[in-house]
Amino acid sequence: QREVATDFDFFYFVQQWPGSYCDTKQSCCYPTTGKPVADFGVHGLWPNYNDGSYPSNCDPDSPFHQSEISDLISSMQKSWPTLACPSGDGLKFWSHEWDKHGTCSESVLDQHGYFEAALNLKKKTNLLQALKSAGNTRFQHFPYDTYYRHYFYTTVSNKSKGKKKMFTGIQPDGEFYSLNNIKAAIKDAIGYTPYIDCNVDQSGNHQLYQVYLCVDTSGSNIIDCPVLPKGRRCGSSIEFPSFGNVAED
Ligand code: 5GP
Ligand code: 5GP
Ligand code: 5GP
Repeated sequence: QREVATDFDFFYFVQQWPGSYCDTKQSCCYPTTGKPVADFGVHGLWPNYNDGSYPSNCDPDSPFHQSEISDLISSMQKSWPTLACPSGDGLKFWSHEWDKHGTCSESVLDQHGYFEAALNLKKKTNLLQALKSAGNTRFQHFPYDTYYRHYFYTTVSNKSKGKKKMFTGIQPDGEFYSLNNIKAAIKDAIGYTPYIDCNVDQSGNHQLYQVYLCVDTSGSNIIDCPVLPKGRRCGSSIEFPSFGNVAED
């Protein structure tokens, strides 16, 4: 029984891969503050109900105020960059996220607390590192370490079949990786299975676009998702496109 209309059951914490936002037909625009580093960025922290529905735009009397988060702005430019066109400094994106989603969790987090919670979750989940270290836990107990890494790599990556290449983790290198291995890598690193949302690049390849994790109503603890989001189909093998310089080993 909900006491107020703005109550909610959990958050989706959604991060986006910039390479997948930018290599689509629609393309993207870098922020006026500069090209983001090649890392996952925050999309949003979205209050949700256990039945899959969600509240939005809960409090028109609580507008976004840059002054309330002035100490967070430089972190937000790094961790929550805007990639939509035309280029902006991020304020429009953050303001949209606050108005649409943040105002629905005001009973728990004020404006500063809301943005701080998202930044802390991004740091805590460290998705790129989780993917890059994939396989390290999986293989450390095997005696024929090198062989198994190689086998795993050539199995997960269609493009590199036949190449003599060691498995170096799941990297944003334009290769294809198994959806299940991507999910397993994140589960190995943070303890919870994410939901993966795919989009399509200019050649029609399905690729890793957004990673959904669920968070309790305090905004700080990752939990098992009470209900899965309605994401787009991925297929069993998906591209992890690069975003800028990637060492081609
Ligand atoms: P899309 O249709 O691009 O997946 O989502 C459009 C927008 O709707 C998202 O950016 C987000 O604001 C909102 N949205 C989509 N799915 C969900 C959901 O499952 N829960 C919540 N809280 N918001 C969602
Ligand atoms: P949603 O309603 O889906 O949470 O927010 C998406 C809105 O934010 C859209 O209007 C989109 O144009 C804008 N936006 C600005 N920068 C970005 C970005 O980097 N990624 C995404 N997904 N949306 C952005
Ligand atoms: P299953 O739940 O049987 O593993 O997958 C059923 C369908 O859901 C398949 O088409 C599969 O590609 C898709 N699927 C499974 N996990 C995810 C995920 O995390 N994200 C997305 N977008 N689709 C998924």
